[in-house]
Amino acid sequence: MSLTIALAGNPNSGKTTLFNVLTGLKQYVGNWAGVTVEKKEGFYRNNKDIKFIDLPGIYSMSSYSPEEVIARDVLLGKKGEIPDVIINVVDATNIERNLYLSLQLSELGLPMVIALNMYDQVEKNGDAIDIRELERRCHCPVVPISALHNRNIKELIDTAELRVHQNNNALPIGEYPPELEDALEKFAQLAKLENHPKKRWYTSKLLENDRQALSDLSLSAKQKEAVLELREKVEEAFDDDGEGIIINARYDYVTDLVADTYKSGIVGLTTSQKIDKVVTNRVLAIPIFILLMSAIYYIAISVVGGPVTDWVNEVLIAEIIQDNVRTWMEGARVAPWLTSLVVDGIIAGVGAPLGFLPQILTLFVLLAVLEDIGYMSRIAFILDRIFRRFGLSGKSFIPILLGTGCAVPGIMGTRTIANENDRRLTIMVAHFLPCSAKSSIIALFAGAVLATWWFAPLAYFSGILAVVITGVILKKFKAFRGESTPFVMELPSYHVPLVKNIIRSSFDRTKAFVVKAGTVIMLVVVALWFLQNITITGQFADFSESGADSILSSFGKAVAPLFAPLGFGNWIATVASFAGIAAKEVVVSTMGILSGVGELAETDPTALSLAASLFTPVSGLAFVIFNQLNTPCVACIAAYKSELADKKWISFALVYQAVFAYAISFLIFQFGTVLFEGTPFNMWTALALAVLALLIFLLVRPTPKDSTQHASLPEEEALVM
Ligand code: GDP
Ligand code: MG
Repeated sequence: MSLTIALAGNPNSGKTTLFNVLTGLKQYVGNWAGVTVEKKEGFYRNNKDIKFIDLPGIYSMSSYSPEEVIARDVLLGKKGEIPDVIINVVDATNIERNLYLSLQLSELGLPMVIALNMYDQVEKNGDAIDIRELERRCHCPVVPISALHNRNIKELIDTAELRVHQNNNALPIGEYPPELEDALEKFAQLAKLENHPKKRWYTSKLLENDRQALSDLSLSAKQKEAVLELREKVEEAFDDDGEGIIINARYDYVTDLVADTYKSGIVGLTTSQKIDKVVTNRVLAIPIFILLMSAIYYIAISVVGGPVTDWVNEVLIAEIIQDNVRTWMEGARVAPWLTSLVVDGIIAGVGAPLGFLPQILTLFVLLAVLEDIGYMSRIAFILDRIFRRFGLSGKSFIPILLGTGCAVPGIMGTRTIANENDRRLTIMVAHFLPCSAKSSIIALFAGAVLATWWFAPLAYFSGILAVVITGVILKKFKAFRGESTPFVMELPSYHVPLVKNIIRSSFDRTKAFVVKAGTVIMLVVVALWFLQNITITGQFADFSESGADSILSSFGKAVAPLFAPLGFGNWIATVASFAGIAAKEVVVSTMGILSGVGELAETDPTALSLAASLFTPVSGLAFVIFNQLNTPCVACIAAYKSELADKKWISFALVYQAVFAYAISFLIFQFGTVLFEGTPFNMWTALALAVLALLIFLLVRPTPKDSTQHASLPEEEALVM
C-alpha cells in the first residue's frame, strides 16, 4: 500500500535534514528560513511505497507568505492528493513557537505524529520533556528523534504508518476559554459544520476572516451575512479583531502546555546563547563578521592561492599540459590551426579559470564550515538589524548571502519575500556579492596586479556596500517604496560542523564550477578563439601574428575608448568584460587566450602575466569592481526572466546595473589615480567629484512626501487576494 507523508514544521526545525535522512537524497540544508520555498518529494530509502513531501517552513497556517500558501494547499489537498499523514517536525529546543503551529496542523483532521527533533540538543542542555504528558495533551504520538544523528527515525515512520492503518485522525489540540469555545460553536452552527472533520479549522478561519477558507466553504449569501454579524459581535465582546482573539488563545494554551511539560536543566544561558552574546553583540557583531570573512578570503586567496596558483598556471598548464599537447599534436601532424585552437584556445581558455580552483575550493570549504556551525544565519540576523535601519527588508539578505556560491539560487530564493517592491530590488542586487566565478577574477587580480591580502575581502565588502547604496537610493523612488516585512528568524544552536555536510556542499559547488568549465566556458572559448583568428574581411589570419585586425580586436578597439575613463580602455579588457556576460569565468579565460597574442606569447603566456602587464593596482581594482557589479551572467539574466517576468523591469535592472557599475568604477579610478598614483587634479577628477556629489545627493535626499501615506503592507495585499 502506498503512503504519502508530509513533513511540516517551522523553518529550521530540521525538516530537510530529516527528509534527506529518510530519502537518501541530498537536498540543500540551509541554516535559515526560507531556503525551501517549493515542496520537494522523495521516497523512503527502506520502502519505496512511502513518499515524503518536504514542505516549506512556516510559523502559522495563515496565507500571507508564499511558503504558507504552498504548505496549506498541499495539506488541504489542493495540489493533488491529500497526504495520508502529517509528521509535524518540532524543534524540541524551542517547543513554544513550534507547538503554536502544531495546534493549527491538528485542526486539519489528518492523522498526525509529532517528531520532537533535535532531542540530542535537549539532552545535551540537560533539559527534560515530559513526553507522556505532551502526548496526552496533544492527542497524538510524540516521538523524540534526532535527524542530524539519525536517531529514532525508524520508530517515527512506524508510528506514522500505524496511525494511518488505524485510521486515527488527529483531534484538534488546544482548549480555549469557554467564551471563545462558545463563539466557535456558534460559527459551526451557522455554517453547518457540526460534524465536519475540519470543524475547528473552519470555525477558526471564519473568526479569522480568512478569505481563502471562506471561499472553500461556499456559503450562501445569507450565511455569509450571519457569519459577518457574529464575528462583529465576538470582536466587540473580546475587544480585539478575530485574528487577534485566536492568536492569543493559541499562545495562552501553548504557554501553559510548555510550562507543564518542559523542565529546563540549566539555570542561565546555554553555550550557544553565550556565544551569541558575543557574536551578535551590537558593538562587536560587525567587527567579528569583518574579521571572519577577511580571514576566510585571506586564507583562500592569499595563503592557499599564492603558491598554488603560480604553480598551476605557470607550470601545470603552461609547461606540462600545453607544451606536451603541442609537441604531441605537432608530432602527429595535426593541422596547425587545430593545434592552436586546442592549445592556445581551449587549454589556455578553459585552464585559466580552472587554475583558480584550489582557491575557490578552499573558499567553499571555509564558507561551508561557517554555514554548518550556524554562523551564516547569525550574519543574516546581524545584517538584518543594520539594513533595516535603511528601510531594507531583512529577508533580502538570505538570498544575497546565498549568492556567495552563485546568485541564481539567491534570485530564486527571493520568492519568500512577500513585498513585491522589495523582491524586485533584491533580485537586482543579488549578484553584487562575488560568486565563485567572480572569485576567480578576484583571485587572478589578487595574484597578478594587487598583491595585497586585503584585496579579496575588499571586493566582498564592496559588494555588500553596493547593496546598501542601491537599496537606499532606489527605496526613495516610488516604484520601490514600501514598508519592510518584519523578519522573524530562529537562530539554531551552534554545532560542531559535520564533515559530511561540508564535503557535500563544497563538492556540489565545485562540481558546478567544473561542469560549467566543460560546457558554457568551453563553447565561448572556442568562439573567442575563432573571432580572434579571423579578420574582419573574413580571412583566416596567420595565427602566429594574429591580433592585428581580428574580428575580436577590431570590436575591442572600437569599444575600448568607452572604458578609458575607468582606466582600462584597452581592447583586451573590453573584450573580457563583454565576454564575461556569458559566464564570469570567461573574463579569466579571455586573459588566458589573449596572453598567447602579442609580446607575451614568446615569454610568459599566462592570464596572470597578461593581467599584470595591462593593469595598475588602481585600474585593476576599477576593472574587478566593474565586472562584479555590472550586467550579471546569462544564467542570472535567465533567472530574471522567470522571477522579474516583465521586460520593463528586466531592462531597468540591466540599465541600472551598467550605469551603477560604470559610475563606481569611474570614481575608483579617478580618485585612485589622484590619491595613489600622483596624477594631478584634472578635468576628469572634477567630473568624478560631480558624480560623487550626485551619488551623495541620491543617498541623503529626503524621501519625497507621498511615500509615507500608503506604504503597501504585505498583510493588506494578502487580504485582497
Ligand atoms: P528546515 O528549515 O526545517 O528544513 O531545517 P534544516 O533541515 O535546514 O535544519 C536546520 C538546522 O538544524 C541545520 O543546521 C541542521 O544541521 C540542524 N539540525 C537538524 N536536525 C537536527 C538534530 O536532530 N539535532 C541537531 N543538533 N541539529 C539538527
Ligand atoms: Mg528546509
